[in-house]
Amino acid sequence: MVTHVLESMNEIITNEYDTNHKALDIVASDRSETNILALENGTVTTVVNHIKGPNHKSKGLDTYGNYVKIKQNNGKTALYAHMKYDSIKVSKGQYVEKGSVIGTIGETGNAYGKHLHLEIHASDNIKENPIISLNTQVNENRVTEKQNENIPTSQNLNQNNHTKQIPKQEENISSSNTQTEYLNANNYKHGSIVDALKSIGINSSYSYRKKLAQANNIKNYHGSYFQNIQMLNLLKQGKLKKV
Ligand SMILES: [Zn+2]
Repeated sequence: MVTHVLESMNEIITNEYDTNHKALDIVASDRSETNILALENGTVTTVVNHIKGPNHKSKGLDTYGNYVKIKQNNGKTALYAHMKYDSIKVSKGQYVEKGSVIGTIGETGNAYGKHLHLEIHASDNIKENPIISLNTQVNENRVTEKQNENIPTSQNLNQNNHTKQIPKQEENISSSNTQTEYLNANNYKHGSIVDALKSIGINSSYSYRKKLAQANNIKNYHGSYFQNIQMLNLLKQGKLKKV
């Protein structure tokens, strides 16, 4: 199952997690000024809501602009930064449930363009890759179910039938066509499809991932993180068809 952090549910990562940016920058694919949703149940520990706009000379905590920190019931702390001035809907000490609106995406602090800067503090000193929190369960079927929810009602029936046929098709392919090769990165522990492909010496370019997506029934691939998660899950399970 994937967890949405934007109400518009069309999240795209514009800046990945790495040693210099231990966070994810996330926007709506249509760049809309959408609401930010809590990733998990937890208690609000910090709210800053008075910063009026961007400040590229800001330092320290001011770089976050308006931000909310939530100590989650799973022990991790989530930090949501650069939120729109006066948009924050939660207050310090408040208990919030997963999926509730905490504020609106914005461009306050040291931000260029409206985006959510998301950090997950696994402990005081460890900022882990937030992709782990967005992809809460590594389970191919659940990803498929979640996708179906987004499909217009008129197509639900067809899509459900289609989904049920997938395991059958896979069996047929593997028994009747011995040339189908599957990629496998079951030792890969992190959240990036690009790094996972690199780790097994496979081309990780966008154009090759687009071909992989096509071969693996991931529709209209444009590199959204849900599509990448779906591909990564297949890869970790050794079920990603090679092209
Ligand atoms: Zn950032």
